[in-house]
Amino acid sequence: MFKNTLEQIVTYEAGKPIELVMREYGIKQEDVIKLGSNENPYGASPLVIESLQNNAYKASLYPDDSMYELKDALALHFNVTPKQIIIGAGSDQIIEFCMQALNHHNAQVLMAKTTFAMYEVYAKLAGVEISKTQSDGHILEEFLELYQKVKSQKNISAIFLCVPNNPLGECLDSNAIEKLIKAVDKETLVIVDGAYQEFAAYKDKRKAINPQYFIEQFDNVIYLGTFSKAYGLGGMRVGYGVASERIISMLYKVRPPFNVTTLSLQSAFVALRDQAFMRQCVEKNAIEMARYEAFAHKMGFTFIPSYGNFITFSHKEIESTHLCEWLLQKGVIVRNLRSYGLNAFRITIGKTEQNTRVFELIEQYLQTHR
Ligand SMILES: *Cc1c(COP(=O)(O)O)cnc(C)c1O
Repeated sequence: MFKNTLEQIVTYEAGKPIELVMREYGIKQEDVIKLGSNENPYGASPLVIESLQNNAYKASLYPDDSMYELKDALALHFNVTPKQIIIGAGSDQIIEFCMQALNHHNAQVLMAKTTFAMYEVYAKLAGVEISKTQSDGHILEEFLELYQKVKSQKNISAIFLCVPNNPLGECLDSNAIEKLIKAVDKETLVIVDGAYQEFAAYKDKRKAINPQYFIEQFDNVIYLGTFSKAYGLGGMRVGYGVASERIISMLYKVRPPFNVTTLSLQSAFVALRDQAFMRQCVEKNAIEMARYEAFAHKMGFTFIPSYGNFITFSHKEIESTHLCEWLLQKGVIVRNLRSYGLNAFRITIGKTEQNTRVFELIEQYLQTHR
């Protein structure tokens, strides 16, 4: 009854919800520390909350399917035109559109060995084969080698670049991305996923990607952004793609109507206007990130410097599954990376008090479990 390809797809396991921890471990809602899904610990901008309250009556109305207001605001923000923008129910949906729209005849898509799990899911659903780099994260030379190797036998319909990379945290420089784009065929779509760009750009200018600069030069690049992370709207499901008019018009053909809700569009519009709030979140993230790095040094954890709002830890003497389970019982949700084949776990950088609690608990675990 079902497609053969579904047999090769592992159902995506999202970060655990607060409700599960409450139910299974009897922990009160206010005591759960949710650091498993890279959400914004500071929530959404107060202006967004206010606008949701004032616009609740719009729940009965279909959204403006042209999404004029938000597209116009994004166009202004990125110095592009509204026709160079598409909006999705999270940038996840734009990834899906790309995979659905591309011609995958005799083709493969390329990605890093350890990267955002949904790339593989949407690629497999579109029936296309995947090739991954040898190393876990993104290394320009490896992508170039892999590209040459696969190209000698197959077409390459798309290359995924996750910058910064979830779940590892490393980030290619903008000029490395440009080098890669220049080296690939014009028929290969380069998907530049900037879900954590706001954090990376703040930390290091060399990581900052200017979508307008890329799409002006290259007709085979799409930049993806989201309101789920730095803007704190994970629950609203709004993301966007910035690309040439040609690419956007093709993606529009696979987009279902009303794919983003009225209140979500409204919230994203308001969130984009409150740059000061987003900026504060990014600044606090950097301060708390430094505490995680110091903690890692002190406790002997290995980590890759992270350009996102999360950090991935591993430890020779610790079994990540066991630690994550133990933390869960204490009401702390982090992301085990066993499903990626790694003995490591990813922690979203939380608020000061949350992070202090995480440090205390992990220290306690280390004292009692080795
Ligand atoms: C969170 C995330 C996204 C998109 O999330 P949406 O909520 O669907 O916008 C895309 N890519 C990466 C790498 C992410 O971590």
